[in-house]
Amino acid sequence: ALSVGIVGLPNVGKSTLFNALSSKQAEAANYAFCTIEPNVGIVPVPDPRFDALVKIVQPEKTVPATVEFVDIAGLVRGASKGEGKGNAFLANIRECDAIAHVVRAFEDENVLHVDNRVDPLADIETIETELALKDLDTVQKRLDRARRQSKGGSAIEKKAIEVTEALEKLLDQGKPSRLYDPGDDEDKQNIVRDLALITRKPIFYVCNVKEDQLAVGEKDPLVARVKAHADSVGAPLVVICAKIEAEIMQLAPEDRADFLASAGLEEPGLNAVIRTGYRMLDLITYFTAGKQEVRAWTIKRGTKAPGAAGKIHSDFERGFIRAEVMFWEDRVSLGTEAAVKAAGKMGIEGKEYVVRDGDVMHFRFNV
Ligand code: GDP
Repeated sequence: ALSVGIVGLPNVGKSTLFNALSSKQAEAANYAFCTIEPNVGIVPVPDPRFDALVKIVQPEKTVPATVEFVDIAGLVRGASKGEGKGNAFLANIRECDAIAHVVRAFEDENVLHVDNRVDPLADIETIETELALKDLDTVQKRLDRARRQSKGGSAIEKKAIEVTEALEKLLDQGKPSRLYDPGDDEDKQNIVRDLALITRKPIFYVCNVKEDQLAVGEKDPLVARVKAHADSVGAPLVVICAKIEAEIMQLAPEDRADFLASAGLEEPGLNAVIRTGYRMLDLITYFTAGKQEVRAWTIKRGTKAPGAAGKIHSDFERGFIRAEVMFWEDRVSLGTEAAVKAAGKMGIEGKEYVVRDGDVMHFRFNV
């Protein structure tokens, strides 16, 4: 499964956020998931389209899309040099597909800050420097190997030198490797991919604020600074109060709406965190909707119909004949599949059909 790693300095609220996220997993009735590891949570993705389909179809069973969050604790200054078990943590991050970087913008004299000051931009720099240093290490090892091996005249290794020198230059300046563009050259693309660099993963920021900062939102001076930074690197920003999120999840579901309203929130901040994480993974959702089950399926953007069918069962992909496709909105507003068909809004699609985010699909296949 694709996963989002939660990183940040100690005491910024990572575990508080992670625990709130994980309690959503515990709540999802159909999840017979036993806990895999204490720091991994499989979290249902809030999706109004899914809810609308469930309401209209009234199935026996519902299975929402999920995204995996991993709590990566213990990243500290010096981690890239092995400080505080740093290398183990960095290895965990490498296995994630995207990064949620939590920064602290709340003042609380009872909660120690590792550097004795609340300065989210400085925190971002501390963490990102460690990530860049780790990548620099990876890149330099590859560069050494390329230099040795290119002596044999290998064209690939010559390209590897070009790629790793460019990466080294960026990382050396503390810049993330995602700024490097290998262009159309597939060899170069593969060389970069095989390095599995941390600073190439998509990232978003989660700004953890105090309750009274929530109402002010991005006008809060600390939040505004994080926002400006996030914008400058093209990363999304989600503002939450982790403490409130944890409190919401401890309430009975029927008591949450009142609590949210009193905190001036339209929905839990967790929802935005989950949705943003899902988006960073470049995933889309298609649905299957029958009396037995309404289910959301997660695929990479750009997947064609047979590949989407293969998510359900490999036989569906192998024996794929065609797909009947409706858009979720039509399925909901017209009420029945027969009505969608009668309105001429059901498509019969073949192997080359690229699945849209929000399609409701039936697959026809040979066994
Ligand atoms: P981590 O080290 O980043 O995982 O941080 P924790 O989640 O363990 O939080 C560190 C401390 O900060 C704990 O005592 C939390 O209760 C507290 N904390 C976390 N989020 C908030 C928040 O939004 N507001 C306040 N005031 N305290 C918080």
